[in-house]
Parts: sequence; structure tokens; C-alpha cells
Amino acid sequence: MYADIIVDISVESLDRSFQYRIPEELEAKAEIGERVWISFGNRKSYIKGYIVGISDRAKIDPSKIKPIRGIVEGEVSVDDRMIKLAAWMKENFGSTFNEALKCVIPIKKKVQNLVKRRILPKADRDILNAAYATAVRKKHKAKERLLFELLGEYEYGLDYSLVVQKLNVSAQTIQSLITEGLIELESETVLRNPLERLENDRGFACELNPSQKAVAESIWADLRAGIRNDYLIHGITGSGKTEVYMAVIDEVIRQGKQVIMLIPEIALTYQTVKRFYRRFGDSISIMNSKLSAGERYDQYLKAKQGLTQIVIGPRSAIFMPFDRLGLIIMDEEHESSYKSENSPKYSTRELALKRAEMEGASVILGSATPSLESYSAAKAGRIKLFELKERAGGAELPQIDVVDLREEMRSGNRSMFSRRLRELIEDRLSRNEQTMLFLNRRGHSSFVNCRECGKVLKCPHCDVSLTYHNNGRLMCHYCGYSADMVAKCPSCGSPYIKAFGIGTQKVEEQLIKEFPGIRVLRMDADTTRAKDGYEEILSAFANNEADILVGTQMIVKGHDFHNVTLVGILLADMSLYSSDFRSAERTYELLAQAAGRAGRGSRKGEVVIQTYNPEHYAIETAARNDYEAFYNEEMSFRKLLNYPPSWNMLRIMTLSEKQQCAERLAAVLKELIEKKKDEFGRVKVFGPAAAPVFKVNDVYRMHIYLKSADYSALVELKNYMSDYINDNPDKDTAVQFDFNPL
Ligand code: ADP
Ligand code: ZN
Ligand code: ZN
Repeated sequence: MYADIIVDISVESLDRSFQYRIPEELEAKAEIGERVWISFGNRKSYIKGYIVGISDRAKIDPSKIKPIRGIVEGEVSVDDRMIKLAAWMKENFGSTFNEALKCVIPIKKKVQNLVKRRILPKADRDILNAAYATAVRKKHKAKERLLFELLGEYEYGLDYSLVVQKLNVSAQTIQSLITEGLIELESETVLRNPLERLENDRGFACELNPSQKAVAESIWADLRAGIRNDYLIHGITGSGKTEVYMAVIDEVIRQGKQVIMLIPEIALTYQTVKRFYRRFGDSISIMNSKLSAGERYDQYLKAKQGLTQIVIGPRSAIFMPFDRLGLIIMDEEHESSYKSENSPKYSTRELALKRAEMEGASVILGSATPSLESYSAAKAGRIKLFELKERAGGAELPQIDVVDLREEMRSGNRSMFSRRLRELIEDRLSRNEQTMLFLNRRGHSSFVNCRECGKVLKCPHCDVSLTYHNNGRLMCHYCGYSADMVAKCPSCGSPYIKAFGIGTQKVEEQLIKEFPGIRVLRMDADTTRAKDGYEEILSAFANNEADILVGTQMIVKGHDFHNVTLVGILLADMSLYSSDFRSAERTYELLAQAAGRAGRGSRKGEVVIQTYNPEHYAIETAARNDYEAFYNEEMSFRKLLNYPPSWNMLRIMTLSEKQQCAERLAAVLKELIEKKKDEFGRVKVFGPAAAPVFKVNDVYRMHIYLKSADYSALVELKNYMSDYINDNPDKDTAVQFDFNPL
């Protein structure tokens, strides 16, 4: 047997492995990810390498291949552990080892100075207040944001990089405020002692209410007893989960350990991050996708050197190389952005549970609408479950109305707003309160179809419906193909070919038409494309610059607007009609999260759900805010049809210009299962079938689905298939594995 070994772990060198012979006495121990001693070049002493691949074929003349000298014993470093984790990922998520390694190892870049800068007020409050008023009047939005926040943190100042990255204030704006003598910068090359800072800032911790306290104390007790555990906090939106996280983080840091706090990228707003900053100050580092490679590397380095105790970030923050990891928190654990889209298509939840287990750390999952995976694990006792059933700040849960759109049609209302919704919008306008309208679709309208023959216009390359845009163009959102809108149906010549369905832009237009003088803000992929788009719109809405915010699913995530007392879901069915076994779960989730936006302040909120399916259990249970009932319905459906989390699934996707390669793979697979009946007899194979998006850029996407109660059977089959693919190479076909796909 031979092993591929890398001697230097940096991304550039990952593809440069060297082959060594595995001596017989080491064969049992030499696994992927293992540390080994080897002789290298003309160096006198042995050096440490990592095994990244094993095969029985020599790449060069076998007599020239040197043997591995031994297994490295002794203390395991962070790098060693991360490489072990990569090996586990490769095996369980189905990727190459290099792909997995690239997740856990950051790109090496020139190290910048570890300077922290703070923005401090230089003038007294009155002068800053006056400057703030001027900025508001002159509509200097960035200045306004900065001064507003600075006035709120007058004694502490603001973190420079946070202001630039999350508040979207440019360096020029900051410079001009310095020139005006309003602010100054303070630099520090050494970090303050995080514990000292913690003592200082305890004033920011709020007194936990009894239900929060019960959760925190139960987790503290485990931590103090040195017991690692996995927890799920099922708490309705606004129940104060974040306060509980912070109370637990406090304890972990006191024990000298480190914390990874995962938040979906979309919820990683200034408001969220600020709460953590106030409490934990400089011991925090923040990751997001806007960071440059250099900045990212700095953060890894600081973590390695023990200069940061807490990292907050989206899924990739799970790879933070903390040496004394004590806790991983995963907020909004049900979010689909926690699943990687690239190989390895890892589930951050599984990875978090695994990493924590390997390192003796604890995991807290939190959500108002837990994934069925987590909730069923909690029900089965594998995860400790806590419930927070009331809103923490004393706010009441909103009143939810379900409106049957078929009824509206029957009584002659052809508007996209039901009578109930319109009445409530008018009421809010008269009371100067705000409304959010939610639509799960982007663009002006959706697809174009012929009312006479039913033809739908599709992209010639991608086999997806073209989207009609306001400028009269048709667009493909996968490959970017665009064309002019047609006047006549290309199929039957009928002039009755029109855009169908509604989009955010159309909602905005309709609002302006039906409610004269209304101020509307729109948030979707188009309006947030500009660098500042997202934060700009949110802060404008928070500043009461609009009566209504219209948006796609982006607006339902975690924002806390105190003046919003009405939320309308224009067509709840949109997410019910997707061809996905999780569509009911997604619908429940979206409805519950959207409803959670209403009435976060002192006034009670109302929610209107418009639908053609009022009796569907996802809609009906969401309207009653009854997660348990939804879970029971949904889980029995999953069990009946052997869907996750009841069983496990593996999706094998082929990408090829030839359509038949998936057929060949499926045949091989079926033959193998037939041959090894004892082992794989209970595995079910579906397909091959065209993927929902069948053709992208002239490449066909086919997939084969496997279902099995047993995860390890799927891993075995994946390994067989990888070997088959390696033995029968086809450079025109790419094969991807995806376990329990979303
Ligand atoms: P979640 O994370 O569950 O959505 P948050 O922790 O964000 O909930 O809390 C919701 C709101 O209630 C926040 O404005 C928060 O400051 C407030 N809050 C949370 N816990 C308490 C408490 N114990 N006392 C007073 N206000 C609280
Ligand atoms: Zn037609
Ligand atoms: Zn296309």
C-alpha cells in the first residue's frame, strides 16, 4: 500500500503530495488524516507529514518510493485536529480529501499588523447631537448612521472595522468627521485582557427572566461539572435566546475556553453584532463573506494565538482553529444556508456536533422552528431540549388571520391584497405604524405563459422558466441569457401571452396605485445588489422613512423593528409548490419567522396569511403557532415515505454534456447492490432523473437518489462509486455526492 503525503499545510501546497510506501506493520494505523514521520529531500532528520490519500498503485517506480518511518505520537495540535476533521468530512460528506482540507485551512497571506482601532467621540454630546441633526437634514446617510451609533455608545466608542464592514461607513466619511473635530481614532496594538473587559461591561447584561434563567442555569451546571452536552433551545422569536447564549458564553470564557457563534450570513447585521460587542468587546472576531483573504487569515492567526475568545460568523466560522474550544452555538439552526453548496456539501450542524464531540466542547442549537433533524434528535433524547414559550421583553404574540384567496376571487376582488389585508394596511397608515409585506419571489413577475395553449417560455440553455423584467426583457437567472418579451406565442401565435404571478416590484407598483401617498421600500436581490443596499434599506426602514417594506425571504430573518405591527404574507403557497420533500417544513418556517416580525415592540401585532390552501397543515399549524402539531404531522409523512430525518438520503449528481452517463452509474450501482444483498439489501435506488434544473450552460444535470435507514450503508456505497469512477475515468463527467440534500 502507498500513501499520498503532504508535508506543508497551506492551500497552495495541498495539490503537491508525495507518495510513500506504507510498511506492513503500519498498515493498520496509517489512515487518512494520520500524522507520520518521513524522510524528505536531503534533510537529516525526519519531518512530519499528513496522509491525504491511500492507494495500492505506485505512481513512480516502486523501488524509488521511500517508506513511512513511523506514526507521530504525542500531543495533538490544532492543525492535527482540523486535519482529522477534514478526513471525517471527506468520508461522511463525500468529497476529495483536498476539497475537505481547503475548508479547514485558510489561505496563507502576508500577515498584517494586529491593530485594533476604535472610533471615539472627540466633542461633547450636544455638539454630536447637533452634527447628527445636520446629517439627517442633509441626508448624509452614512454620517447619520455613524453618529447615531456613537451617541448610543458615547463612553465606549465603536470598533472601527465593525463600523466599516457592518455599518457600511466608508473610510472617507470617517476621515471627514475626524477633520471636523467630531471624532478621533484610538489605535492599540495590544489587545486588552478580555476578562477585564468582561467585568467592565457586565452592566450590559440584562437580568434573565425565570424561563431564560432555568435554561442558562441548567447549562451552567453541566459546564461547571465539566460535562459536555448537546442542547436545543426551541424558543419562539423574541423569547430571548440570544440573551441565554450570551449568559452561557460568559461562563465558557470564564473557564478560559473559546466559543464559536454561528449566525446565518443574512442575520449577521450590525444590530446583532453590536449586542455581542457590547457584552464581550475586543475578545470577539467577526467573520463574513466580505472579508478579504488577508483579513480572514489574520483572524485565523489571532484565534490560533489565543487573542480572540469568540468568533461570530456564518457556516465557515465552524473551522476556526481554536485550541481550547468550549462551545459551539448555532443560532437559527434550521437555516438552509448552513448547508454548503460546494463539495464537500457538509451540514454545519453535523460538523458542529462532530467537532464538539472530538474536542470535548458543548453545542447549543437554537431556533423558533427547529429542523426536523434536531427536533427528532431531541425527542429521542440525543440532544437536551429546552423550550422558551414566551416573548422576553413582555411583548405579546401577534394575532394571525388566514385569508382564503379563492373566496376573494369569488367575491370579485382581483387585487393581490385581500379585503382584510387592505383594511389593516389602511389602519396602520392612519396610526403611523409600519407594515412588512412578504413575497417569496424575485423580479417583476415570474414566468411568462400563453393563456391559450399553455406554453411557458424557457431558457434554451437551462430549461428553466424565463423571468419577465420591467424593462421588457426576459432573463434566465441561471446562465444570464436574455431576450425581448414576445408579442405573440411562439407556439400557437396567440396574443394572450403574459407574465404570470407577482413579484416584489409589482407589489410595490400596486401599493403606490392603491394607496396614494404611501412610502414604500423594497428589498430583494435587485435592490440589495449594491454594496450598501441591504443595510441602507434596513436602516431607512428602522428610521421610519417608509410605511411599508416589501421583500423576499430576506426580510423575514431576525430583524427587530419595533414599529412594525402588521405583517402580510401575500401568497403563502409559493413555497408549498416547490418540488422538494421539505416544502412543508420550509413553508412553516417562513410563516413562523415572518409572523415573528410583527409586534416586537410594546404594541400587539397582526399577521395576515393569504393562501389558496388554508387547510394545508403547514399553514394551519403556523397560524396557530403550534410547532409540535406541525412536527407530528410532518414527521409521520417523512416516516411513511422514508425521507430524512427518518431515513438517510444520498444524492449522486452527474454533470455531463452526455445524458447517458447517469444511466451507466445507476446500472453499476444497482448491480452492486444486487451482488451485496446482505449489506445493501435495504437500500432503495431512485432514478436516474433530470435534476430540477436539467441543463445549465449546455451541461446536463442528472441525479440518482439512494435512501437507506443506515447512514453508513450510504457511505459505503459512495466509496464504491468513487472507486468505480476513479477506475473508469471520464474527464467530461463530474460526479458530486450530497448526503441528506436540501
Ligand atoms: P431571540 O434571540 O429569541 O429572538 P432576543 O434575545 O433577541 O430573542 O430577545 C428579544 C428582545 O427581548 C430583545 O430586544 C432583548 O433585548 C429583549 N430581552 C431578552 N431577554 C430579556 C430580559 N430578560 N428582560 C428584558 N428584555 C429582554
Ligand atoms: Zn400559445
Ligand atoms: Zn439559462
